[in-house]
Amino acid sequence: MKVINPRTGEADYQIAPLDATAVQAEAKRLRAAQPAWTALAPEERSAILHLWAEAVVAHRQPLLEALTLDTGRRRISEIEVDGLPGTIRRWADLAPRLIAQHSRDNQPSAHPTVRNSTRLVPYPLFGAIAPWNFPIVLSTIDAIPALAAGCAALVKPSEVTPRFIAPLMETVAKVPELAAVLSFIEGDAATGQALVDAVDYVCFTGSVATGRKVAEAAARAFIPANLELGGKDPMIVLESADPVSAAHLALRASIVATGQACQSIERIYVARTIYQPFLDALVEAAQKVRLNYPDIAMGDIGPFIFGPQGAKVQAQIDEAVAMGAKVFTGGSVETLGGGRYLRPTVIADATSDMGVVRDETFGPVLPVIAFDDVEDAIQQANDSVYGLSAAVIAATAEEAESVAVRLEAGAVSINDGSMTSMVWDAENSSFKLSGMGPSRMGESGLLRFFRLQALIRQTGAPLPLAAYAEDAPR
Ligand code: NAD
Repeated sequence: MKVINPRTGEADYQIAPLDATAVQAEAKRLRAAQPAWTALAPEERSAILHLWAEAVVAHRQPLLEALTLDTGRRRISEIEVDGLPGTIRRWADLAPRLIAQHSRDNQPSAHPTVRNSTRLVPYPLFGAIAPWNFPIVLSTIDAIPALAAGCAALVKPSEVTPRFIAPLMETVAKVPELAAVLSFIEGDAATGQALVDAVDYVCFTGSVATGRKVAEAAARAFIPANLELGGKDPMIVLESADPVSAAHLALRASIVATGQACQSIERIYVARTIYQPFLDALVEAAQKVRLNYPDIAMGDIGPFIFGPQGAKVQAQIDEAVAMGAKVFTGGSVETLGGGRYLRPTVIADATSDMGVVRDETFGPVLPVIAFDDVEDAIQQANDSVYGLSAAVIAATAEEAESVAVRLEAGAVSINDGSMTSMVWDAENSSFKLSGMGPSRMGESGLLRFFRLQALIRQTGAPLPLAAYAEDAPR
C-alpha cells in the first residue's frame, strides 16, 4: 500500500497492511505473554516501562525524522516525540499507587462472618485504532496505561502516517519483556476491523463515521468500545473580554496543527459590542501566520497531512461564500511543492446552516459570529451533534464559568482554548457524537482497563438450605 508524503504529494513510502490472519496471529502471540506480564507486581511493570522510556529517548532522532515525514511538520513532531517518554514515566509512576488504592483486601461486610476483597483484573488484550493527526500521541495515549494495568496491547496507527511505526517498534524491541506484550502494526481499515475482532477492549480515536462501525463491531464481539471522535468546538467571547487578546488566543486554539486537532476551535461567537475590534485583531494576526513552506524549519503551520482533507475544507469554504459569508484571509487551498496548504481563513457572516459552522472542518478556518444575547450564544454553541470541548473568554474566570457549565461539552477551557491536550489529569467525557466511554485523562485513564473481581470469604458457618425454606422460622 502506497503512502503519500504530505509535503511533496508523492508516494515515497509503502506498508504491507496485516490481513485478518496476521492480526489474529499477532494477537495470539501477545495473549500468550500477557499472563506473565500481569503476574508481575505493578512496580515491576513500571520498571520495564521506564526502560522503554529510556529507549525512546535514545531513538529520538529516527523517530523524529519518520514522524516529520509522516506529518510534514517539525515542531509538533518534536513535541510528540519528546512527550512520549514523559507519558510513559507518568503512568509507570502512577499505576502502582492507583492499583493499591483501588484494590481491597479482606474488608468487613454487612454480614458479620463475611469478608470481601476486590481484585483489579485487567482485560487480557487491549487494542487501539488511531488517526493521522497526532500519530504518536494518539497511538500511545491509551496503550501506555493499558500496559501499566497489565494488559497486552495491539495498536494500529493510521495508514496515512505509518512511517514512525518501524522506529517505534525498534524502541520496543530494546525491552524484551515489553516486546512480548506490545505491538504496533501496519494496516488500513480492514486491519482495523480484524483488530476489533481480535481484542478484549478497543479504544478508537477517529471520525464519527468510523467510530460507529467500530462500536457496532465491538457490540457484536461483546467487548467495550471506548470512542474518542470528532468535534466542532465553539468559543464564546463575552462582552467583558479583551477583544485583542481573545482574538490572539482564538487564532492559536483554532489553527495550531493546521486545525487538524479534534479540540480545535471551529466556531467563534463574539459579543456584538466587541465584535469589530475582535475581528480586526483576528484578521491582522491571521495575516501574519506563515506556512512552513518551502523551509520546514520556518513558519507556523504545515500542510494538510491527508491531502484529500484540503478539498473537503475548500468545499466548506466555497459553500459558505456561495451562501453569503465573507472571507477576510486565506480562503484558497494552495498546492506548493506538491503539498496542500491553507492560510488561516477568517470568515464573517457565517450562519448555522453552513457546513463550515455545522460540520467538523479539521482545517485552519475560523467562522466568527456576533451575538447580542448570551442566552443566544449558549443556544447556538449547543446546537451541534458534537460535544467534545469548548472555550469561554471573559474578564473573570467566574463569569466565564457561569457560561461554561451550561455548555454541552466534555471539557471547557476558561480564558484559554483547546486545553484538553495539555492537561492530562482533567477527567472528561465526550458528550453527544464526540465519543463514548470512560475518560482517557485522569485516574479513569488507567482504571477503565480493569474488571473488578470480588472474593467473598465466608468465615463462619454457611447458611443451610433450611434458611430458605417456606416454613423456616422468621
Ligand atoms: P478515520 O475514522 O478515517 O480513521 C481512524 C482509524 O480508523 C484509521 O487508523 C483507519 O485505518 C481506521 N479504520 C477505518 N475504517 C475502519 C473500520 N471499519 N474498522 C476499524 N478501523 C477502521 O479518522 P482520521 O481521518 O484518521 O482522523 C480524523 C478524525 O479523528 C477527526 O474526525 C478527528 O476529530 C478525530 N479525532 C478525535 C480525537 C479525540 O480525542 N476525540 C483525537 C484526534 C482525532
